[in-house]
Amino acid sequence: MGLSDLSASELLDQLQSGAVSSREVTQACLAAITVQDTAVHAFLHVDAADALQQAAAIDERRVRGESLGLLAGLPVALKDVLCQQGQPATCASKMLSGFIPPYDAHVVTKLKQADAVLLGRTNMDEFAMGSSSENSAFGVTRNPWDLSRIPGGSSSGSAAAVAARMTPVSLGSDTGGSIRQPAGLCGIVGMKPTYGRISRYGLIAYASSLDQIGPFGTDVRSVATVLEAISGHDPRDSTSVNQPVPEYSKSVDQPLTGLKIGIVPEHFSAGLDTEIAAAVKSAIDVYRSLGAEVREVALPHAKYCIATYYLIACSEASSNLSRYDGIHYGHRATSFKNLNEMYAASRGEGFGAEVKRRIMLGTYALSTGYYDQYYVKALKVRRLIRQDFDAAFQQVDVIAGPVTPTAAFAIGEKANDPLAMYLSDIYTISANLAGLPAISLPCGFTTGGLPIGLQLQGRPFDEDRVLRAARMYEATTDWHTRRPNG
Ligand code: GLN
Repeated sequence: MGLSDLSASELLDQLQSGAVSSREVTQACLAAITVQDTAVHAFLHVDAADALQQAAAIDERRVRGESLGLLAGLPVALKDVLCQQGQPATCASKMLSGFIPPYDAHVVTKLKQADAVLLGRTNMDEFAMGSSSENSAFGVTRNPWDLSRIPGGSSSGSAAAVAARMTPVSLGSDTGGSIRQPAGLCGIVGMKPTYGRISRYGLIAYASSLDQIGPFGTDVRSVATVLEAISGHDPRDSTSVNQPVPEYSKSVDQPLTGLKIGIVPEHFSAGLDTEIAAAVKSAIDVYRSLGAEVREVALPHAKYCIATYYLIACSEASSNLSRYDGIHYGHRATSFKNLNEMYAASRGEGFGAEVKRRIMLGTYALSTGYYDQYYVKALKVRRLIRQDFDAAFQQVDVIAGPVTPTAAFAIGEKANDPLAMYLSDIYTISANLAGLPAISLPCGFTTGGLPIGLQLQGRPFDEDRVLRAARMYEATTDWHTRRPNG
């Protein structure tokens, strides 16, 4: 069994016992990247020398008997939206091409404190807007299960890199599904924690009231361990909540008794692929057989989630992205006659088509005369969506359902149809609007051999139970052990 066959939690055991060194694990990842990434294109930047140096330093400290952090020696890849001092951060946009952050994001500081090895920067949809990687300014990432298909997005490279075993774990960001959707389409585990669980300091903003950072891994325990390492209060993000962080890595294997699972009938109506519906229903049967009680719950406002999300996300994006004007931040055009032309040319050259579309939609929704009609209305519906969840969680502990309406689609299939692309997030968006924790984990394959994901959503700050419920299913199934080409 090669190193790349092991999950992050298994690798951590081996690193701790001295069976392998961090240098060996890092070298194995770098070798896998060399072999596979020409085809997959999960990474935008890999600093091999720097990664090996970090690994060697951790190995030396281990040999000296120093006490080491939770992720000691484990390689982690970062979505290109997270600032790491001295390494490029482009958000897969020409606008930020050449930008080298002078500081670390809070999660990067946490990873360094946990003695992880920062392996490289992963491809994504530009500024995290998209569901397929086709909006990257630097080329598409391919799904390791079928290279003619998309890996999902926007954390495309972070998901594909883990699925192809080029890194044991990675971080992504999830504003409307960007961790769970690619995790589902790539057959791995990905979690969006509660809004406020993890500091967004140093996460380049898309829609600040929805953005959350979270981990990818090949099994639930690995995701629990990385989540534990990066969670916690940070005064530099005013929305980060000061609550104790449970030891998820330890509690994840504790059995859950009396679990109550909610299912939402509308999740299984028109638009959901029949193979996905069947796989998710049989996952729910597994829970029944494990003693969980399953009952229907209603989320009556869920049908407005796409409209609500695109009004709020685009409005916030139009505000957040106004800083990229060629003066404060970002690419500056070289040919212009006056200041206004310079702004227009810089933004026109720096942003891709989808980012421009969203800035225009958001600016429109915020403009005088339309503000109350669109933006304020969307905020009101958002509150109703949250209230539906609050009522549902009076009756059940987690809500189970699909992650995506279809399995991974072909590259190009939806590229010219923004609405079809937006609909691929129909099951993931409501957790962001309500600020809830949610996980995606493998629950089957289509007859064509493409992965299918199961989503579990939980109460705010109840990540612990969501992880344990996910692990309970994973422990009795073997979907997570399958891998592309193997
Ligand atoms: N696909 C959604 C969007 O394009 C979600 C993106 C995300 O979660 N960052 O906005």
